[in-house]
Amino acid sequence: MTTLQDSTPTPRGAALVDSFGRVHTDLRISLTDRCSLRCTYCMPEQGNTWLTRSSLMTPDEIERVAAVAAGLGVTSIRLTGGEPLLRRDLVDVVQRLSALRSGGQPLEVTLTTNGIGLPARLDELWAAGLSRVNISIDTLRRERFLELTKRDRLADVLEGIHAAAASGRPLKLNAVAMRCVNDDEIVDLVELATSVGAQMRFIEQMPLDAGHVWDRDSMLTREEILEALSRRWDLTPVPGRGAEPAERWWLDGGPHAVGVIASVSAPFCGSCNRLRMTADGQLRSCLFATEELDLMPALRADGPAPSEASGDLAIEAVLRAAVRGKKAGHAIDSPTFLQPIRGMNAIGG
Ligand code: SAM
Ligand code: SF4
Repeated sequence: MTTLQDSTPTPRGAALVDSFGRVHTDLRISLTDRCSLRCTYCMPEQGNTWLTRSSLMTPDEIERVAAVAAGLGVTSIRLTGGEPLLRRDLVDVVQRLSALRSGGQPLEVTLTTNGIGLPARLDELWAAGLSRVNISIDTLRRERFLELTKRDRLADVLEGIHAAAASGRPLKLNAVAMRCVNDDEIVDLVELATSVGAQMRFIEQMPLDAGHVWDRDSMLTREEILEALSRRWDLTPVPGRGAEPAERWWLDGGPHAVGVIASVSAPFCGSCNRLRMTADGQLRSCLFATEELDLMPALRADGPAPSEASGDLAIEAVLRAAVRGKKAGHAIDSPTFLQPIRGMNAIGG
């Protein structure tokens, strides 16, 4: 168990480096556990117990944690969920975070969304300082979309994609690749992406479904995704992956590329630079962490309000403790692997 005390002193302002030397520069902030869809691999259709409104971090609290993190070397923030577009104060959050600086540079603020309702908010989001958007789409077939997400909203997702593409900013599309679900649409999805100037990325399905029915033997692997792609295109690796989760390949030599995020069959934990904060202020050092550290006591102290400086020190202590407790890898293949209690919608992807 990680505690706030089991530390050797760290110089103030030093970077967030874990015990394996990984430097943490990327903070994923989940804004809500609610969603306009019910993707089967992410959350159940019914019976969800939602976070209460009062337990959600406010824009002030999110900004405060982000400001402390930026002072410790975090340079990019991805807003996610659940569906972040369901937060009415999303533009306010983006504006506050984009105004923060890390090492003299503005923080990069990006959004992962299902795209539903995006067209109406896009201009405001860009004006607020949003840098980039990733949109998730697993199928181009209406019936299949309904089956997979339990909502008949494919047209809304496609509208979101077209609006984002039309704004001329870099756009990535994400699909969870699944056997006997959408493995016959790998090429079609890439063609949609290239037709709107976006980059397609396929994600291996991870054991983060609320139903706990994920099965290692039946998941579609990186190798199978690449095989499907190489039947249509000549693939050449794009060098310079860095800490990116996606490995990329040029399609027929470029200019379009495709990415594969093989978290299960080819984990990239060794270069992980990410920390996660849930919508109710719990810090997680990994998607698969079974332990969370609570930021709320540092943000909502009982009794007389602490000074800003001591409050920030308390936030820093939680950030450092989370990084210190980070494990070498997710160990999905270990016989002792335990799926986190929260589903992906409540962790933030
Ligand atoms: N609602 C937004 C969306 O769908 O993009 C943001 C949140 S969603 C949890 C973020 C990403 O996680 C999506 O690309 C989604 O496909 C992915 N995801 C959710 N559950 C997953 C799972 N079990 N395995 C792999 N990826 C998953
Ligand atoms: Fe909602 Fe995204 Fe989860 Fe689908 S993957 S249910 S869109 S949070």
